[in-house]
Amino acid sequence: MSDDLLFDIFEPGETPLPHADDEVAVGIDLGTTNSVVAISRSGKPEVLRDAKARTLIPSVVAYGLDGSVIVGEEARELILDRPHDVVSSIKRLMGRGIEDIKAVAGQLPFEVDGDASGMVRIKVAGRTLTPVEISADILRAVRAQAEQALGKKAPKAVITVPAYFDDAARTATKDAARLAGIEVLRLVNEPTAAALAYGLDQGAEGLYAVYDLGGGTFDVSLLRMEKGVFQVKATGGDAALGGDDIDHMIAEKFLHERSEADLNPGKVKQALMTARVAKECLTAREAGEWMLEFDGRTSRHALTRVELDAMIAPLVGRTMAICRQVLEDGGAAPSDVKGVVLVGGSTRVPAVRQAVADLFGAMPLANINPDEVVAVGAAQQAEALTVGSDTLLLDVTPLSLGLETMGGIVEKVIFRNTPIPTAMAQEFTTYQDGQTAMMIHVVQGERELVSQNRSLARFTLSGIPAMAAGAARIRVSFTVDADGLLTVSAREMTTGVESQVQVKPSYGLSEDEMANMLKDSMEHAKEDMAARLLAESKVDAKRNALAVKAALTHDGDLLSKEEWGLIDQALAKVDAACQGTDREAVLAASDALELATKPFAEKRMDRGIRKALAGVSMDNLEKRVGE
Ligand code: ADP
Ligand code: MG
Repeated sequence: MSDDLLFDIFEPGETPLPHADDEVAVGIDLGTTNSVVAISRSGKPEVLRDAKARTLIPSVVAYGLDGSVIVGEEARELILDRPHDVVSSIKRLMGRGIEDIKAVAGQLPFEVDGDASGMVRIKVAGRTLTPVEISADILRAVRAQAEQALGKKAPKAVITVPAYFDDAARTATKDAARLAGIEVLRLVNEPTAAALAYGLDQGAEGLYAVYDLGGGTFDVSLLRMEKGVFQVKATGGDAALGGDDIDHMIAEKFLHERSEADLNPGKVKQALMTARVAKECLTAREAGEWMLEFDGRTSRHALTRVELDAMIAPLVGRTMAICRQVLEDGGAAPSDVKGVVLVGGSTRVPAVRQAVADLFGAMPLANINPDEVVAVGAAQQAEALTVGSDTLLLDVTPLSLGLETMGGIVEKVIFRNTPIPTAMAQEFTTYQDGQTAMMIHVVQGERELVSQNRSLARFTLSGIPAMAAGAARIRVSFTVDADGLLTVSAREMTTGVESQVQVKPSYGLSEDEMANMLKDSMEHAKEDMAARLLAESKVDAKRNALAVKAALTHDGDLLSKEEWGLIDQALAKVDAACQGTDREAVLAASDALELATKPFAEKRMDRGIRKALAGVSMDNLEKRVGE
C-alpha cells in the first residue's frame, strides 16, 4: 500500500480549519515607553523584529497635518522637530477621566481636554483624539510589524496590562485593540506574564516578586504561585519613576557643564537624548565620553559608571523602600521570596540589579531580556489559548466586588484575589412590604461601608411583584470574565424579572489610589467592623419595627389598649436608639420590642393557623404539611 492512500483522520471537531495556518496569535506588551510583540510556536517564544531588526517599538505616535500617522522610532526622532505633533506615554491616560488627570494635565507634553462625558481628549496636529484611538494607532503598527515578520495575518493577541489597571483602563485597552482590528484573546497582568515567561507556573509553589523598572514607571508585585495559579498578593509602585528620571539627572549634569545660558525645549530634549545614550552605554562599559552639539558649539561630557551609580542612588533607594513596603503589605520577609523576576529596560542598569539582589539576598532572574520578557509571557499565553499547552493561566481580581445593602453596608460577593474568570451569586430580599423595585449599587473595595469604597455602577431592578418584606427572592450574579471585566445581573426568582449592567466606569483608579484603598482597609479594619456591626443592628431593629407596625395595622384588633400602648413605647425606643451610635442601645431596644410583642405574635400565629385550616380536610392538610 502506498503512503498516498493514507488519510489523516482527526478527532471529531479537531479537523483544522482551512487557512488556519495563515493566521497566528501573538503576545503584545503595550508599554508606556516601548511596545513589543512576540510569538510562541511549539513552546518556543520568539520576539518579532522590524525590517531593521529592532524589537522595541517606541510607544510614540507622530501625527501629520496631512493625516499621516507615524509610530515607533521614527516618531520618537520627530519629537525634537515637531513637539506638538508627537504623543508619547499615552498609556498613562488609558481609562482615565479628565477629573483624574487635572492635577497632572499641565505637566503632560501635549494638550489635553475633557469632552462632555468627562473623557480625556488630546489635541494634536489639528485633531482631537482619545487615548484609545492613539493606543489603537500603536497597536496597528505593532500588528503590522508582526505580520511583516511572520508573513502571516496576526488578528488575535494576548495583550498585557499593569496589575493595577482597573476595569476602565482594561476596557480602554480592549477598545483600542478592537479599533486596531485585533481580537483580544485575553488581557494578562504584566507581572504574571513575566513570571510565566520564566516558567514559574511549572515550578515550585510559593512567593515570587516581579520588579519592573521601565521608562517612566516603577511597579513591584508580589505573586503567590499555587497549583499553577498566580495570585497578586500585593502591588506597589511609583507612576512617575523610571529610566526617564535617570536621563534627566544626566542631562542636567551635561547642561550644567556646558554652562548653557539660554535653554529652550529643543536643547533640553537633545540633551536628554544624549543622556539616554550615555546611560545605556554605561550599562556595558565603565566610562565614556559624549558630545552635545547645538547652536554651532560642541561640548564633550565624560561620565563614569561610578559617578552614575552615585547619581541614581536615591532613585534606586526609593524603589527599594517601595519593595519593602510591598513585602510588608503581603506579610512576607525578603527571605520568603523564592525568586525575583526583573522586568523593564531600566533593570539592565547594574546598580539596580545589585540593589535587588542585596534586598532579596539572591540574584534575580534576568536571563530573558527584561524589556521583552512581558511580551514573551504574553506570546506563550496566546499559544496556550489557541493551540493549547500545559500553561493554564489564571489571574485574580485585584479588589473585592460587592453590593450595597441596607444601612450603607457592603456585602462582598467576589473577594479580592479570586481567580478569574469567576461567577458568584447571592440572594437578597426586599426590605419593605410591597416593595416593587430594588436599587442595585455595585461597589469595589475592601472597606465595610459603601461610603468608603468606590462606586462602580447603579441600576434598578423594577417590576418585582408586590410581596411581603422578605418574600421576594432576588438573585444577584456577578460575573468577571477572563479580562477582569464585570457584569452584574439581578433576577427576581419567582417571576423571572431581570436586569443587568456591564460595568464600564468612565474613569479609573491610579495605582496609588488602589494601594491607598488596600492600606486604608487594613488600617481601619477594626473601626470599619464596628461601624458595620452598628449599621447591621440598626437595619435589623428597623426591619423588626416595620414588621410590627405592619402587623398592628392588620391584626391590631387582637390587642388590648394597654398591650398596644406597651408596644408603641417599645417602638419609640427603637426609633430613638436608631438615631444614635450606641450599638448596645440598639440591640437592647430591639430585644425589648421583641419581648413586648411576644404575646401579640402568639395571638397572630393562632389566628393565622385557624385561618389556614378553615375549610381544609384532613387529606389536604397532610398534603400541605408535606409540601
Ligand atoms: P516601559 O515598560 O515603560 O514601556 P521599557 O521596559 O521598554 O519601558 O524600558 C525603557 C527604559 O529602559 C528606558 O528608560 C531606557 O532608557 C531603559 N533602558 C533600555 N536599555 C537600557 C540599558 N542598556 N541600560 C540602561 N537603561 C536601559
Ligand atoms: Mg513595561
